Amino acid sequence: MKIIMLGAPGAGKGTQAGILSWKLGIPTISTGNILRAAVKAGTPVGLQAKSYMDGGKLVPDDVIIGILAEALAGPDCAKGYILDGVPRTIPQAEAMEEQGLDVDVVLDLEVPDEVIVARMSGRRVCPACGATYHIQNAPPKTEGVCDGCGAKLIVRADDAPETVLDRLHTYHEQTEPLLAFYEARGKLRTVNNQPSIEAITAEIYRTLEI
Ligand code: AMP
Repeated sequence: MKIIMLGAPGAGKGTQAGILSWKLGIPTISTGNILRAAVKAGTPVGLQAKSYMDGGKLVPDDVIIGILAEALAGPDCAKGYILDGVPRTIPQAEAMEEQGLDVDVVLDLEVPDEVIVARMSGRRVCPACGATYHIQNAPPKTEGVCDGCGAKLIVRADDAPETVLDRLHTYHEQTEPLLAFYEARGKLRTVNNQPSIEAITAEIYRTLEI
């Protein structure tokens, strides 16, 4: 199955993609995680992407399209994949179509902006392995420490409140038009926000009939 996770930053795409990935036995491709790794490693792509990311702006489409094509060419993606955070613009979605990178279903996680802002202030990430936590909704077993690899958890630079507002603005302006794009192709499925991670997962399973 080839799935795109759509939704505002902080809507829960990464969390739900991780759960679905385990359930379906297919990898999640997160351009955000790939870019953060590139920034950390100081590669040319990372150096180019850093200033956009720190400012809550989108990285240029040509950079993203290159990263995505490379990631999806891996043998682990042959049986299917879950795309988390990509495509994020109409040109990215068009480039995917041109390259024959098709999708079966686009899950739109609908969460009101005010819920997003509250949620992102509690988000913590592991700088070593990329796992995400939330101080209230999904805390690690030991406060401030990654369950998976033991590294000290941090607040992502782009989760600072003013950057969150910029990212939401970017989402509404540049990513939301993808809803109509995929609706027109009969691929869009809307998942309404629920009170817990488990309830959203249940809603997604119902939508995908799995
Ligand atoms: P994310 O972890 O998906 O929220 O991504 C973090 C940041 O990486 C975003 O705010 C963008 O600056 C950049 N980014 C990730 N994916 C994309 C994409 N598909 N298009 C453009 N920029 C992206």
